Amino acid sequence: MLHPKFNIQHSKSAPLLSSKIKALAQQYAPEMIAVRHHLHAHPELSYQEFETAAFVQEKLRSWGIPFTTKATTGVVGIIEGKNPSSRIIALRGDMDALPIEEANDVPYKSTKPGIMHACGHDVHTTCLLGAAKILQETSADWEGTVKLIFQPGEERNPGGASLMIKDGALENPAPQGIIGLHVNPQLEVGKLSFRSGMVMASADEIYITVKSKGGHAAAPHLTVDTILVAAHIVTALQQVISRNNSPFSPSVLSICSIQGGHTTNVIPSEVKMMGTFRAMNEEWRFKAHELIRNIVEGTAKSMGAEVHLHIDVGYPTVHNNEALTTKAWDQAKLYMGDDKVEETELRMGAEDFGYYSQVIPGCFYRLGVMNKEKGITSGVHTPTFDIDESAIEIGMGMMAWLGASV
Ligand SMILES: [Zn+2]
Ligand SMILES: [Zn+2]
Repeated sequence: MLHPKFNIQHSKSAPLLSSKIKALAQQYAPEMIAVRHHLHAHPELSYQEFETAAFVQEKLRSWGIPFTTKATTGVVGIIEGKNPSSRIIALRGDMDALPIEEANDVPYKSTKPGIMHACGHDVHTTCLLGAAKILQETSADWEGTVKLIFQPGEERNPGGASLMIKDGALENPAPQGIIGLHVNPQLEVGKLSFRSGMVMASADEIYITVKSKGGHAAAPHLTVDTILVAAHIVTALQQVISRNNSPFSPSVLSICSIQGGHTTNVIPSEVKMMGTFRAMNEEWRFKAHELIRNIVEGTAKSMGAEVHLHIDVGYPTVHNNEALTTKAWDQAKLYMGDDKVEETELRMGAEDFGYYSQVIPGCFYRLGVMNKEKGITSGVHTPTFDIDESAIEIGMGMMAWLGASV
């Protein structure tokens, strides 16, 4: 059953509005591509988005869109349509870049050594700005209020989304739903993809330190062998998922680093390990933390070693609300045509959008940016990531259309 809040009938003006938005997206595309070039050339790391936030504020101000600042470098804009309190929808864009040296030889290449917009957050910010301009211009044609959430720090714990929520981004007025997009370099430009229910995993970091009295390798009976204890822990941890998790719910535990010892004949007194744990079910997620603790501590104890375990609790799962997502998916088909909208695959990656979708209904969808003919195929978080920029017209038009119609 559709959530009543999203069960809004299409008004007769819907086709008119969608053509109007499409025409404006086409008209503003060159300006917004220039905006993307500026943002791409001036990337900033998580929680340091000062120039980016100032740039966003300047654009909103120039279009007459009121805004407030939140969580230091976050910006929240408000656009009112007809009957502003009849429906309130939030649109979200993230603004931070990554500590990667850009390898692309393009005119808009990063001007900051070691910092690059390699996850497309420059594109997300651009699409939200473009949508803001279109929504402001068409505000007499749609109902309700659109809240624009430009957030910092998606790439780093604790996640800018959690700080924006703490600072009141989802209050005064409180949106009934939130929509966000992410570029997808595996999806052809010209396409979008949606999925209801779970779309992305939670991500927690595991840190283990095994300690004991080390000593001479020829006299292991006088030591506790931390290397052997670590090896048993790694092996035993594999049963957390294979023997305890439902096979119908995806989950991953990977130990990705083991550091200990430095020569052939000394048993080290300390071994450090690091890894990641991901899940698609919040209940299982926290049960698994307990299992991990029992296995790590139990194994070390049974072998006579001391152990310290720290689980750094990261982003929650991203759950797409069924009613909101069905509505957005239908509206996307109406705007783009049925054949341009696909179903998103499940991913074990994480996104701090999950914090919003824990509080209010969320819909996180993907924007195709790949173009094989032009050789634009590099994945996100790589030094050669780029997009086919015709995606910007689609991304900003779609954000505006969803903001006005969902
Ligand atoms: Zn990323
Ligand atoms: Zn990202």
